[in-house]
Amino acid sequence: MNSKRLRPDNRSGFEYDLRCPKIDVHWHVGSWNLNEARLSVREMRQDFDRFGYRYVLVNSIKAIVYDMEAGNAETARLLKEDERCRGLVVINPVRQDASLKEIRKYLGHPGFVGLKSAADYYSTTIADIRYEKILSMAEKGAWPILTHKYGMELIVEKYKNVKFILAHSLFSDAKKMAGFSNVYFDIAASYAYRDETNIEGMLELAGPKRVLFGTDAQIMSPAWSIGKISSARISQSDKNKIFHDNAFELFGRFKSNCFGG
Ligand SMILES: [Zn+2]
Repeated sequence: MNSKRLRPDNRSGFEYDLRCPKIDVHWHVGSWNLNEARLSVREMRQDFDRFGYRYVLVNSIKAIVYDMEAGNAETARLLKEDERCRGLVVINPVRQDASLKEIRKYLGHPGFVGLKSAADYYSTTIADIRYEKILSMAEKGAWPILTHKYGMELIVEKYKNVKFILAHSLFSDAKKMAGFSNVYFDIAASYAYRDETNIEGMLELAGPKRVLFGTDAQIMSPAWSIGKISSARISQSDKNKIFHDNAFELFGRFKSNCFGG
């Protein structure tokens, strides 16, 4: 393949990609207590600058792990610290009514743009019946949901109008799920095998518009996901779609927020 065709300018690939405008769909506030570095607001903002972030979608570890309400409130506080931050409301199927209440609480908040759930943390999957009302609400509010993959293939057709973002997508996930047009692929994954870190293959299966830039920061540096895209043999135009354009299209609420972004 002609590398000049893939790089329309003379700047080095990674340096150029570092500065490309980005939307990170998978960032956490809080800690997993795994000695993550750079958790302060000041350090996070430095990283937003360094990695060319236009927006970053934040969800709370505390809300996933043990206190949904306090964790979502923590996300809401972070939104005030940097205008690039947007929130995902974490919901918990074991606490269905409380989850619906959380969605209602933040539906009118212009900084929140979608939902997040990690069903396996509650020993279940996204196909659990206790997600039904939550997904119906996501459908009504046109809120995409970032979710772990387990059980997704069982429900994506039933909720055709819900946009599911498959967190930590690998090539094998694209092989399994690319046929469902309402499934998007977040590449935030620590898995390092080449056959699974196959961005070219994911694009071939899902097309260039359903692959999204995500990092899982700060447990992992954004440099890892940027490097995966930067080293992929795909056009700069497709890279820009992954880094930014696809998420901007997907999350309709970017276009109607109070920050004027
Ligand atoms: Zn995560």
